[in-house]
Amino acid sequence: MKKTVSFSKNACNVFFHILTSCNLSCAHCYINREQHGDQTLPLATIETWLRVFANKKEVANVIFLGGEPTLHPDLSRAIKAARTMGFKSITVDTNGYLFHDILERIDPFEIDFFSFSLDGATPETNDRIRGQGSFDTCVDGIRRAVAAGFHTSLIYTVSTDNLDELKKMPALLENLGVERFFIQVIGLRGKSARGTHTKTQVAALDWLNIIPAVAAETARRGLTVTYPKVFLAPEEPFECAGLVADNYFIFPNGRVYRCPLCEDYPLHSLLFEDDRLKAAAPINEADLFLLNISEGCVMNKLVQPENIAYRQDGTPEYKVACCLLKEEIKP
Ligand code: SF4
Ligand code: SF4
Repeated sequence: MKKTVSFSKNACNVFFHILTSCNLSCAHCYINREQHGDQTLPLATIETWLRVFANKKEVANVIFLGGEPTLHPDLSRAIKAARTMGFKSITVDTNGYLFHDILERIDPFEIDFFSFSLDGATPETNDRIRGQGSFDTCVDGIRRAVAAGFHTSLIYTVSTDNLDELKKMPALLENLGVERFFIQVIGLRGKSARGTHTKTQVAALDWLNIIPAVAAETARRGLTVTYPKVFLAPEEPFECAGLVADNYFIFPNGRVYRCPLCEDYPLHSLLFEDDRLKAAAPINEADLFLLNISEGCVMNKLVQPENIAYRQDGTPEYKVACCLLKEEIKP
């Protein structure tokens, strides 16, 4: 059954980049050390910052990110600390290299998901984007995680470089025992914002023709699938997650954003200073969230205006949804 997952008002979602270093150098990597810092946060800082969000809402979820979070020598202790603090769900997004024997250092009940990243259904395509050997290592990591009893999900970032291989993913995922599939659209952050993004972004029609069909096929094989809604019909309501949801994108330099499209700019609305969460000086992303435009998302219009098509009378053909608005299909 397909449904649009609207923003939860009762949950606080913490996207915690505990370091920015990584062993890979993916073509579309959104990490931008100038804006995000290059520190590896000490465990004590991770715990202090997590505590700020642990009881903020009825439900708090945390996703540990990097860089590659398993490069952090204390990731296992950060996971255990988050569990003790009562986070409802704990996820680690990994490129699959699983450093520091992370599978041996935590138990499956201490974490909800290991979320792996592949950008191709074959080594040829994936490794062209993510680096030599990364396909085989990631697939091996998934198999080891599943065999050890962990729940796994997979993120596939769609671009014109790998759109053709998306249809091969449902069979691969079923074979690997992955339970959830997240299809992402290439975003204009980090490297993809600095280079040839207009060449790699998928056209609206291709997105609408291909993604929902692959999602439906994946669900038919027993997985839950999530993908961004991207385009809104005129009658569908537009909402900015920055105004109605409780998401925090935290970086090692202390910047805290409410909108992922703002992460390439000094537009964060919050920051950690002396381990206290404070409001950042205006003008910042929070001022942009308030602007009401006929194209939908203000940041999309500012940073990727080529996503918008106009009719002859100058009105937009569709609104662009908040990048955090998702469609979900359950088996
Ligand atoms: S694995 Fe993630 S953090 Fe590392 S280079 Fe690739 S996209 Fe960037
Ligand atoms: S992506 Fe657009 S709509 Fe979503 S939080 Fe950012 S500015 Fe708001």
